[in-house]
Amino acid sequence: METVYLLILCVYGVVWGSFLTVVGLRVPLKQPITLSRSACPNCHHVLTGVELIPVFSILYQRGKCRHCHQRISLLYPIIELVSAASFCLIYLYVDHHIFNLATSGLLLTFGIVFSVSDLTYQILPDRIMRWFAAAVFAVHVLNGTKDFLFYSATGIVFFLLFYLFYQRLPNSIGGGDVKCYGILGFLLGYQTCVLALLLACLLVFAIQIPLLLVKKVNSQQAIPFAPFIFTGALLAYFIGPAFYEWLNLLLFIQ
Ligand SMILES: [Zn+2]
Repeated sequence: METVYLLILCVYGVVWGSFLTVVGLRVPLKQPITLSRSACPNCHHVLTGVELIPVFSILYQRGKCRHCHQRISLLYPIIELVSAASFCLIYLYVDHHIFNLATSGLLLTFGIVFSVSDLTYQILPDRIMRWFAAAVFAVHVLNGTKDFLFYSATGIVFFLLFYLFYQRLPNSIGGGDVKCYGILGFLLGYQTCVLALLLACLLVFAIQIPLLLVKKVNSQQAIPFAPFIFTGALLAYFIGPAFYEWLNLLLFIQ
């Protein structure tokens, strides 16, 4: 039965990832999300039913547009598969309390939209940022979070610290990253958010430095931080309690 649940979750995850990709591609261009069908960005051929099926369509078309034979970005199937895998991981490893499910769901959802937008246009749209802040606020209210002031204060402190950093070194991070960490502080609290930041930095080093070395990117290029920020946040949310328990043990033993 578990396998059936996981297969259903994979299908939902792929479809959700595909929808969020459309949101991340269209909102920054101020295009409607639902009214028009997706089209090839090169020849503008409107995609047919078969071409709209996530992951499968890329395999069926061998990674190319059927009309102009332009290569289709690998970003789309990767996002769809990451979304499917995340649905299964959340189901398997997150405590099925509504607050935990909502928190991991929000991190996944906004993480995908911001990552697509950042990787494609190097912006994190304010319109989506407002939705993210409102959704986090709603989750706290619905959960009846007792430490609401603590979470709010964490959000403000993270926002101010990143804002100062942004003011001092404006070319290092973007304004959207500053707002993201403010909202993540508000959602996660300071312990998980500090770990999220640490993991995001480790991921940047682990992925960007090899890319610099093989000259896939150059040092002048702006780094799209959103995928690192949200992967770090999701990982911190998964492993945070175990990590701090281990850290306590380590400090206690010494
Ligand atoms: Zn085409």
